[in-house]
Amino acid sequence: MRDPITIVGAGIVGLATAYQLLRAGARGVRVLEAETAPATQQTGHNSGVIHSGLYYAPGSLKARYCVQGRDQLYQFCAEHGIPHERCGKLVVAVSEAQQATLLKLEERGRANGLQGIQRLTPEQMREREPHVAGLGGLLVPDTGIVDFVAMANKLAECITSQGGEILYGARVESIRRDGPASILKTPVGDIRVSHWINCAGLYSDRIARMAGQRPRVQIIPFRGEYVRLKPEAEPLVRHLIYPVPDPRFPFLGVHFTRMATGGVEAGPNALLTFRRQWYEPGDPSERDFSMLGYGGFWRMAMRYGAVGMEELWRARSMKSFVSALQGLVPEIQVDNVEPYGSGIRAQAVDQKGRLLDDFHVMEAPGQIHVLNAPSPAATACLSIGQHLCNLAMNRFSA
Ligand SMILES: Cc1cc2nc3c(=O)[nH]c(=O)nc-3n(C[C@H](O)[C@H](O)[C@H](O)COP(=O)(O)OP(=O)(O)OC[C@H]3O[C@@H](n4cnc5c(N)ncnc54)[C@H](O)[C@@H]3O)c2cc1C
Repeated sequence: MRDPITIVGAGIVGLATAYQLLRAGARGVRVLEAETAPATQQTGHNSGVIHSGLYYAPGSLKARYCVQGRDQLYQFCAEHGIPHERCGKLVVAVSEAQQATLLKLEERGRANGLQGIQRLTPEQMREREPHVAGLGGLLVPDTGIVDFVAMANKLAECITSQGGEILYGARVESIRRDGPASILKTPVGDIRVSHWINCAGLYSDRIARMAGQRPRVQIIPFRGEYVRLKPEAEPLVRHLIYPVPDPRFPFLGVHFTRMATGGVEAGPNALLTFRRQWYEPGDPSERDFSMLGYGGFWRMAMRYGAVGMEELWRARSMKSFVSALQGLVPEIQVDNVEPYGSGIRAQAVDQKGRLLDDFHVMEAPGQIHVLNAPSPAATACLSIGQHLCNLAMNRFSA
């Protein structure tokens, strides 16, 4: 390898990959980031939860990388003084059907190697979370909370101190071929790369297409809005309280999260959006209707239409949002919460309209494209980074 390995995107996946490459002895690593700082997209707008690996199908990449990655993350945070806490979470069943799902989750957690998970009766739940309501719960001690922005900043610091380079304001605008190499056009100049990794999150499908690839998926953005408990209501939640997920839509279901940076947030909902980047009213935003020309989008709309409408309603009505939260903590009232930011998920959707559940990577000569890195990719960043590093070291030196 003559020129540095180039990574597009300084979110937590791109940064962790650069970090692992430098640790593995790669001779040069360069990260190109569109914005002026790391972690301004999904990484900086997520729930800050270190996931345990409870939900994922045993044997899936998600299960493997989450379990390995969270231990690496806890260790990294302890070594580098990143705010974090292994506080555990409570998954609460509010119906008989959910009790049955909870049993399956418990089996799944054990199959994924989770330590110390425990079924709780309503009384035991209330010893831990006095304001929770439900028929039964599952305590998951390996779950934690972390400041992922602090983690990303620390990774960036480690990269530059180990000889790597991060160029901010370097949005890749177009790509042209130059023999076996690619020329990435950015506002800071044209950059010639022979070996590069696309970790552009919400824009990863566009970058792959600019590079002449034909990914079989398209990113569909889903916006998630949060509320925060007002200080007087914070004592209603001590740790993390989650609903039993609907196996068909694992990323739906509002939950309560005590944050590593202080306070308690609740949410998010999940709402289809035509903007890949738009967090606050007033943010500059570009509408993106390209998905309307994608067959997979319409097939997805037919598959999941009714659920989308329900979420849309929840986004429009604070009462309905709070009523979903009351399912877990009945004492919460509309007056106890205030709007608290949003995040946008990069969800890859295939041509049949299915939401890709697992991590998805596509390879081409000299190129690796990360086309689906949904939750728990922040938790799993160090193990995903290790995997991408191994792939790059093998493929790019061949
Ligand atoms: C609402 C929400 C809640 C979540 N909660 C959790 C959680 O609690 N725990 C967890 O583990 N995971 C969670 N996730 C998932 C997690 O945040 C993501 O999986 C993870 O952050 C993905 O990281 P990334 O680096 O792939 O993407 P991103 O963080 O989106 O980074 C991509 C980067 O690429 C840059 N970029 C884009 N286009 C270009 C271009 N053309 N040129 C140069 N740079 C470009 C962007 O500016 C950005 O910095 C959540 C996600 C969301 C949205």
